[in-house]
Amino acid sequence: MKNIAVIGAGTMGNGIAHVFAQKGCKVQLIDAQASALEKAIITIGKNLDRQIAKQIISAEDKAITLANISTFTAIEDGVANADLVIEAATENSEIKKKIFASLDEHTKADCILATNTSSISIGQLAAATKRPSLVIGMHFMNPVPIMKLVEIINGEATATSVTDTIVALTKTIDKIPCVVKDAPGFIANRILMPMINEAIYAFSEGISDAATIDQIMKLGMAHPMGPLQLADYIGLDVCKNIMIIMEEGFNNAKYAPCPLLVKMVEEGKLGVKTGKGFYKY
Ligand code: NAD
Repeated sequence: MKNIAVIGAGTMGNGIAHVFAQKGCKVQLIDAQASALEKAIITIGKNLDRQIAKQIISAEDKAITLANISTFTAIEDGVANADLVIEAATENSEIKKKIFASLDEHTKADCILATNTSSISIGQLAAATKRPSLVIGMHFMNPVPIMKLVEIINGEATATSVTDTIVALTKTIDKIPCVVKDAPGFIANRILMPMINEAIYAFSEGISDAATIDQIMKLGMAHPMGPLQLADYIGLDVCKNIMIIMEEGFNNAKYAPCPLLVKMVEEGKLGVKTGKGFYKY
């Protein structure tokens, strides 16, 4: 696979473009906002500089990586030659369904369509296309250039050959694929988010302060980051939305977001991105 298109140039899209371009793929990075594309190229440049400083890559590698990335604001302009498209646009099923319908129209018939969604059903996105056997989840972790895991999600209709291709491709970018079935929250968020939600309950009940709750989970469970700090980094709005998707998807109130989480989101305390969450930034 030499030609990869990435839809969405935000936090995840720029990281996905970075890792494929660094491995020699031609990457067409597409975002509806020209400003997001400009920002993404600056971010990728800075992240490559960090890799140079750590002597992971040379200045020449940086230049080659950046030269492998081209940017577009319209899907139809960037995907015609793609062997694989990885969609990493805003986490909204209506937006994603429209993107998948457009990809179905404008890509080669054998192009694989992957999504980086954290929680939306792969089957739902596949249904927006006429090629459900070629649709699959590729759930990268943030920050993409550093984190090793890619959760590979098989939709009900995903062809075995497509899973095999994506598993092999994931290894070529030095990541570790873990294959799971399509279910709300998949595996990563189904286990992580209830833990974060429970930590928020403990905090809201005044059992301990945020720093102590995080310290207990870091020291006691060998987690590199405590659940409340991690929630701030992920974004409290994102955490809340994933809990709601699981609550609705499993039709089980045990996944309902903690009232304090809902209140903090309503107050605009979304964590690092707004400067205030369980901590100040
Ligand atoms: P983001 O908000 O940083 O970036 C999303 C980008 O998509 C924006 O630049 C936006 O302009 C663009 N976009 C929106 N609609 C578009 C369209 N129709 N066509 C082209 N571009 C469009 O979001 P993000 O955090 O990078 O998340 C992207 C996806 O990755 C989501 O599905 C999210 O659930 C998933 N994800 C996020 C994380 C994380 O930690 N942020 C981790 C794993 C997976």
